[in-house]
Amino acid sequence: MGALLGGLWPEAGLTLKFVGDLFIRFLMMIVMPLIIAAMVSGIARLGDISQLGSLGSRTLGYYIGTTALAVITGIVLVLWIQPGKAGLEHSKESITRSEAHDRIDGNTMPLDKRPVARFTQEKRSIGDVLKEVIGGLVPSNIFKAMANNEILPVITFSLLLGAALSMTGEAGRTAILFFNSLNEAMMKIIHLAMYVAPVGIGALIAGRLGEAGGFSGFWPELQQLGKYAATVIGGLAIHSLVTLPLLLKLFGKRSPSGYAIRTFPALLTAFSTASSTATLPLTIECAEEKNGISKRTAGFVLPLGATVNMDGTALYEAVAVIFIAQMNGIALGPPELLVVFLTATLAAVGAAGIPEAGLVTMVLVLKAVNLPVEGIALILAIDWFLDRCRTTVNVWGDSVGAGIIDRKVKG
Ligand code: ASP
Repeated sequence: MGALLGGLWPEAGLTLKFVGDLFIRFLMMIVMPLIIAAMVSGIARLGDISQLGSLGSRTLGYYIGTTALAVITGIVLVLWIQPGKAGLEHSKESITRSEAHDRIDGNTMPLDKRPVARFTQEKRSIGDVLKEVIGGLVPSNIFKAMANNEILPVITFSLLLGAALSMTGEAGRTAILFFNSLNEAMMKIIHLAMYVAPVGIGALIAGRLGEAGGFSGFWPELQQLGKYAATVIGGLAIHSLVTLPLLLKLFGKRSPSGYAIRTFPALLTAFSTASSTATLPLTIECAEEKNGISKRTAGFVLPLGATVNMDGTALYEAVAVIFIAQMNGIALGPPELLVVFLTATLAAVGAAGIPEAGLVTMVLVLKAVNLPVEGIALILAIDWFLDRCRTTVNVWGDSVGAGIIDRKVKG
């Protein structure tokens, strides 16, 4: 209904945007206390803390394996469909990288006025991003990290607290009970969020379509980059409808369709908010309450996955970068494709679970294969839409992970 409303009456959609923003604020309000309560009580529930190693290694294995599969799907598809070939045919010539840089730099608009200036000013190398991710694991002030909605440092703290409490025996019992109760209370608040979700989701979609000028504004945007958008969406569809369900069936021994139906509220929220972090409360709710995932698995796998495991983002970054190369008539050889594969994976890990974070970390991938960063301008118009699609796949990937890892932990 939100899509119809915002698509046909953009003005009405814009008026409703306020309601959608309220929904996002409500979700973000729950995120931090939820992560702490879910992680501390989940880890403390493990009983024997040495189990944490096994849970951690399985989770990491799943994250790395599925992200790699997603990137490979993206690369194969974009090389096969060649959505950027039209750009090459249009210019009827192949150009070198420096010519491509010049051509794009030939833009007469002053650099700081160009829409992509914020990306070109990003000077981070792969080493910087690695340092940032690893350095970001340890907060200097846990309250500051919470206030800034930084998930990774809060996860580190909660993990340590949960592990420490479970090792303190009798002395830690009261605190563990406290976090268990807090977790239960947070789940009650999320129930409330579930009730208002249909309205919130509808308002967000109506508002965004309203901003795009309704269907008549959105359609030309989509058509202009139609082949590229179709490649990204096709890749996301293969990963989420074929690869992940197969893994869930094989390793999680669960019915993928039932599992997906029960995860649907979280997936719709991901699509409407374009943020894995804001969706986290519903992801946890669907996993625990509807799909019967144990609290210890959900409390560990889902918060961590919301920032680290982004299959959709990784796939999209690989497709976008190769598309930009194709548009500039630059052929990437196998060694460069390998670099795209590795950096796209890393860039997805480094992306925060907030709207359009992937677009920013893509600079890293472009720089790694020496492509003009301003090529991002080519895909900017449609990114808000693809962001929603990839966020949905990111959340689906986390949920499937919880389903697979929960069985493994139990088994
Ligand atoms: N918006 C995505 C997410 O929250 C990240 C991205 O921009 O790819 O999962």
